[in-house]
This record gives sequence, structure tokens and C-alpha cells, in this order.
Amino acid sequence: MKDLLRTFIVAIDGPNSSGKSSLAKELAKRLNITYIDTGAMYRALGYYFLEKGYEMTDESARLHMKEPKLEFGFKDGKTAVILDSKDISIDIRTPEIAMAASNISKLLPVREYLVQLQRDMSKSKSVVMEGRDIGTVVFPNAEVKIYLTADIKTRALRRKEDYKKIGKEIALDEVIAEIEKRDKQDMERENSPLKVAEDAVVFDNSEMSFEETVEKALEIINEKVN
Ligand code: C5P
Repeated sequence: MKDLLRTFIVAIDGPNSSGKSSLAKELAKRLNITYIDTGAMYRALGYYFLEKGYEMTDESARLHMKEPKLEFGFKDGKTAVILDSKDISIDIRTPEIAMAASNISKLLPVREYLVQLQRDMSKSKSVVMEGRDIGTVVFPNAEVKIYLTADIKTRALRRKEDYKKIGKEIALDEVIAEIEKRDKQDMERENSPLKVAEDAVVFDNSEMSFEETVEKALEIINEKVN
């Protein structure tokens, strides 16, 4: 791969468990640029609202969403999330918090707040950012847009493995139901629904190895950035 000299944005969107995080992290590592996991931001706010028992409405969001001090980092290959000095990096990875993130992410004040943070975090540097609306809303002019998907069984098996790693044994049927419910909600919401950006490269990685997926993404980046 040739050296990439100017700053650029790689936007990776797609449904749940399509492999976005693993791909985005690996690309950031190989390109030596910043990785930003926007899902973790919605999860952190969902966690906070659940913990406090706050309603998830526009009014309540306006009132409370800026209360917690949120810090995002990247440590040992993982997204680190600190909420008011408490490390919640693992706590936000449960099915309950995933659903809370999807619920809170429907609210316009929350989206406006987090999109602004995401843009600020990317100022004057190259980033790989993953989420649901990166190529459509956060960075409509991103140099590279990838929409990554995979069939439901492949995605559910990956998510089941992720849960296992944090000590949660969840039946495949349950994982499938959770993924389908959350995808439907994310695709049908009014504000920034998950959809393919017009100029995104769509690829299904169900039958691809991780290395093949990374190679293909690097090819796309090389083509678009140089
Ligand atoms: O990617 P992850 O599964 O961590 O995202 C959790 C939830 O946060 C998603 O289901 C979606 O509702 C929301 N989200 C979003 N926009 C993003 C990233 C995540 O609405 N850019």
C-alpha cells in the first residue's frame, strides 16, 4: 500500500454485528490513524439514562444528556469508555445496553449532541469511524464510505462469541431476535436511519475471511484516497 499523505475519513456503516468494529480497528492499526467507535457513545448515554431511571424522550434528553462527563479512548485493542471516572467499557456491552443505545439514539437532541462530538474528535486528522450514519450524516463528504453487511446467521454467531468473551452465554435464537429487533428499529427510525449512502461501496463479508475483508477495504481506501 502506498503512503497516504493527506488527511481523510473512512466511514464504516452497516447493521449489527456485520464486523464493522473488527474491520475498523484493524484498518486504523494498519493505516496508523485514529479509530472512533460511535456506537460506544450511544451505549454510554443509554447506560447513564437507564442507571438514573431517566425517561428517553427529547425533553428528558435535553435536560440530562450533558450531565455525565464522558471520555472515550482506545486501550489494548478495545474502546475504553469512562463515565464520571467509572470505567464502563465492559458494562456497556450487554444486550440490555445495546437496546438502550438503540432507544436513546432515536432522539434528535442526542443525535445532534453526539454527531457534534464525533466531528470535533476528528478535526484535522485521519480517522476510521464506525456506526450507522457516518457516511450519510456525520461525514457526508467522507473520502471513503464502506457499508459492511453479512447474513443474519453469520452476524448472530459473531455476536454470540462477543457475548461469550464477556462471560454471557446467550442462545443463538435470542441473539438473532435481538439483532433483528435492533436493526429494524435502527433502519426505521425518523432521525438518521441506517441506510446505504449513495456513494458507499457495499460489501457482504459472510463468505470472506477477516484478512480478505481487510484487504478488500484497503484496496477501496487506496483507490479513493490516492
Ligand atoms: O454499534 P453498536 O452496536 O455499538 O451501536 C449500538 C446502537 O447505537 C445501535 O444499535 C444504534 O441504535 C446506535 N448507533 C447509532 N448511530 C451510530 C452508532 C450507533 O444510532 N452512529
